[in-house]
Amino acid sequence: MTPLLVSDVALNELTACDVIQRVRSGETSSVEVTQSVLDRIESAEPTLNAFVSVDVERALARAESIDKRRSRGEELGDLAGVPIAVKDVICVRGGRTTCGSRILEHYVAPYDATVIERLHQADAVLVGKTNMDEFAMGSSCENSFFGPTRNPADPDRVPGGSSGGSAAAVAAHETILALGSDTGGSVRQPAGYCGVVGLKPTYGRVSRYGLVAFASSLDQIGPVAKDVADAALLLSVIAGHDSRDATSVDEAVPDYPQKLTGEVEGLKVGLAEEHFGAGLDEEIRSAVEETARRLEEQGAEIVSPLSLEVAANPDYCIGAYYIIATAEASANLSRYDGVKFGFRHRGRSDGRADLLEMYRQSRSSGFGAEVKRRIMLGTYVLSAGYYEAYYLEAQKVRTLIRRDFEKAFARCDVLLSPVAPTTAFPIGEQIDDPLQMYLNDVYTVSVNLAGIPGISVPAATSSEGLPIGVQLLAAPFREEALLQAARAVELGLPSIPTPMRS
Ligand code: GLN
Repeated sequence: MTPLLVSDVALNELTACDVIQRVRSGETSSVEVTQSVLDRIESAEPTLNAFVSVDVERALARAESIDKRRSRGEELGDLAGVPIAVKDVICVRGGRTTCGSRILEHYVAPYDATVIERLHQADAVLVGKTNMDEFAMGSSCENSFFGPTRNPADPDRVPGGSSGGSAAAVAAHETILALGSDTGGSVRQPAGYCGVVGLKPTYGRVSRYGLVAFASSLDQIGPVAKDVADAALLLSVIAGHDSRDATSVDEAVPDYPQKLTGEVEGLKVGLAEEHFGAGLDEEIRSAVEETARRLEEQGAEIVSPLSLEVAANPDYCIGAYYIIATAEASANLSRYDGVKFGFRHRGRSDGRADLLEMYRQSRSSGFGAEVKRRIMLGTYVLSAGYYEAYYLEAQKVRTLIRRDFEKAFARCDVLLSPVAPTTAFPIGEQIDDPLQMYLNDVYTVSVNLAGIPGISVPAATSSEGLPIGVQLLAAPFREEALLQAARAVELGLPSIPTPMRS
């Protein structure tokens, strides 16, 4: 079906801010926007596989009720009529929440996550659940029981992970907005690979209630959007204290969209020398340097060189992350035993009851290879005799990483760095080399270990036509500075690259 056009732009290609304005003014309806997104899903999904499930009827019914309320002159929420896709690790009542895993293939959540309640209150329209690496473990979206998602800029390449479905769906205009989760880079890295904006808020900024836990001290839900203004808007809707998540912080939520001007006069932008070491693709290095130069032109002050001796050293940050994250995952995933949730293997082949055998078989065939690897690694680093040598040491490194950032933010407002060492790589290239795959996370994992906010924003296109993102980091709860700088990056671009047109 030909997409509906409003002054030359298909409705599904609009930003959320545009949709809201047009729906409010009556220029277009939420049903029309939702339908154009659903049409796009239908045409792009055979290639991309960005969704695990799409609920056409529910989405259209919801859009219709928003349109009716508008026509009656009722007050509408901040995301009135905007289609949004949600990573399949966040519980939505009544629909499947699979976490990209066979073990939860048929799991239906009995309640809404807090972020989903907030989306409903804001009158957003949920269109579907997006594909992901199983239990959010991975950097390529290849670890999904439902098959890999492909990158809209080049379908032979990965979209990044683990929120690869959310990033691909936004980039391909299969949705206007999306939610992802970020434990070690899973919102920022796929956003970078797909050419969209991805924001990981400060730990505690957004409620994790209803987010299926991977590593509880690192997990955070974040917006995936077509531009910075949309990311700011979505953050303002989902952020805030929630009594159902003891780790959510009771701190006032600034009006992020209101304050977003892109004004960076006097803003101190730091560059850490360790972020530009061996292994960094030359085109990415020059994209970050060019971004710094443009920010300086816009009035920012570049603070360089800064040092992140521990936080940017792969031996420390990758090491500590993959010990702490797997340790927490091994505990969190123990609940999937074939009894309480999802998939259950029948146990012994002779049909006789054997509880341990049933557990063993359910977990062996319910989890994929990467998840099993991590459960074993996590169990090992927590076991008697190894706990002190691995887990405790990793926690000490975590403290040093936090201090490194504190020192850096005493000298600058935001840090500018690469998001990943390379652009999106070919599907299949790294899947059999877990260590290589883990090294993709070198610029992102420290951010979760320190609990600080980070954003990935498109900054350039590679000679192969692939998106290049840059990352900005700030001190805890300084999302405003982050968004301001990210908006300036956007304003400094000759044009915002659109990876895939309808
Ligand atoms: N790629 C990292 C990992 O595999 C981060 C994943 C995430 O942020 N969920 O653990």
